[in-house]
Amino acid sequence: MISDHYDLIVVGGGNAALCAAIEAAEKGCKVVLLEGAPKAYRGGNSRHTRNFRCMHEGPLSVLTDSYGEDEYFDDLMRVVKGKTDESLARMCIRASEACLPWMEAHGVRFQPSLSGTLSLSRTNAFFLGGGKALVNAYYRTAEALGVTVLYNTEVTHIHIEGRTVTGVELRHDDVTTTLPGSAVVLASGGFQGDIDWLARAWGPSARNFLIRGTPYNRGVVLKDMLDQGAQSVGDPTQCHAVAIDGRAPKYDGGIVTRLDCVPFSVVVNKKGERFYDEGEDVWPKRYAIWGRLVAAQPDQVGYSIIDSKSLELFMPSVFPPIKADTIEDLARQLGLPETKLRKTIDAFNAACPSDPDGLFHATELDGLATTDLTPAKTNWARPITTPPFYGYSLRPGVTFTYLGLKVDETARVHGADGPYNNLWAAGEMMAGSILGQGYLAGFGMTIGTVFGRIAGQEAASHVA
Ligand SMILES: Cc1cc2nc3c(=O)[nH]c(=O)nc-3n(C[C@H](O)[C@H](O)[C@H](O)COP(=O)(O)OP(=O)(O)OC[C@H]3O[C@@H](n4cnc5c(N)ncnc54)[C@H](O)[C@@H]3O)c2cc1C
Repeated sequence: MISDHYDLIVVGGGNAALCAAIEAAEKGCKVVLLEGAPKAYRGGNSRHTRNFRCMHEGPLSVLTDSYGEDEYFDDLMRVVKGKTDESLARMCIRASEACLPWMEAHGVRFQPSLSGTLSLSRTNAFFLGGGKALVNAYYRTAEALGVTVLYNTEVTHIHIEGRTVTGVELRHDDVTTTLPGSAVVLASGGFQGDIDWLARAWGPSARNFLIRGTPYNRGVVLKDMLDQGAQSVGDPTQCHAVAIDGRAPKYDGGIVTRLDCVPFSVVVNKKGERFYDEGEDVWPKRYAIWGRLVAAQPDQVGYSIIDSKSLELFMPSVFPPIKADTIEDLARQLGLPETKLRKTIDAFNAACPSDPDGLFHATELDGLATTDLTPAKTNWARPITTPPFYGYSLRPGVTFTYLGLKVDETARVHGADGPYNNLWAAGEMMAGSILGQGYLAGFGMTIGTVFGRIAGQEAASHVA
């Protein structure tokens, strides 16, 4: 099935890889796409996504109103806190507007934004059928354009002579072979699937982290490129992590394992002690810090406790909560010290405002705060007194790592002495060039689409 020479070798099988492959194939290139995962698991983290963030000067497809470059850039700056390359970021933002019609023309369907969680109808376009449907549509399009797709094909090494890539080493069905190519696009994600690497970067506690996405993003090509002198971007010790249901699988739990109950709860560690203000801000602005907070607790685990007043206030969880008629029974079922949890809940209840019900507003900062309690709960502080009581265990769930390859506006990868002649990168692999820290919802798919398309176009011009 493998021919002996391709114009373009695309490494990876998620959104960024597919955008690159489609662009290059449309420009007449002979393209092979090498996906490390088996076919059933193709599509990496992209298959877990729901939306992408898109600039638009007026209503566009399912997007309402307008979302201009400056507002988009300000939103980005708020999360990266200055750690970005402004010209690259602005270029990506501007290019996002043309991406939406391009995506529709290549098989992606959109739907109006989901209501209830985050209010995103103006800024983020939601994929009908989610990222899985997007990935499937792109595979169909790529194959119709003649792209050869190889599954179970892990790239282990990039062959480079001087500043020119000559081919890639790959393992397929336990056979290692070298595939020559005129150009290569790297789009094989971060390294969060490699728990040993995470533990080296973060410390041994990382072994208890759960990985929200694919186990196949193990950073094999990223490490190979760094070992060969490619310039890196992003903090190697950092990853994006959120608090997810402690019962989620080690890998690939996806979006449904996220828990949105924290602001209406008290969160304790395994000793039954509170450790942070659960009501510090609205949940979309705080969910991303709870991964780290839980990671800093003994055994990297937390427990979110609510009573029946709050059960309907957040998106239902995929695993039902642990339920009990008393706090002591809940503690027993969760494996928490009963007396200590009782004391923590009593102290919290005593510190809550005495008649909060008329003042409580689930969807805005209501200022219902505890008094004389450390740490304070500064919003939504209502006593936990109405049985049944419910509890969820929490663990840090890693979304992606930040370390990546430095690229320029043409998506070209840079080595120690300047850009390589025929090597491009797209998606999570280079996202650190723009996202130095933090995360802006929907921007991962924007970066992958914009830079995937550029990488495919640039590679095609190079080959031509
Ligand atoms: C649960 C979850 C929800 C998310 N929701 C959103 C969202 O709604 N919107 C958004 O913008 N972002 C979201 N993100 C982030 C988003 O998934 C990423 O930014 C995006 O998918 C990155 O695309 P990519 O193509 O770079 O990587 P991926 O889609 O992860 O693709 C990497 C590919 O490389 C393959 N691969 C890895 N190593 C090798 C190798 N050595 N050889 C060959 N192949 C290899 C993998 O199998 C995979 O196919 C979410 C992430 C998670 C985990």
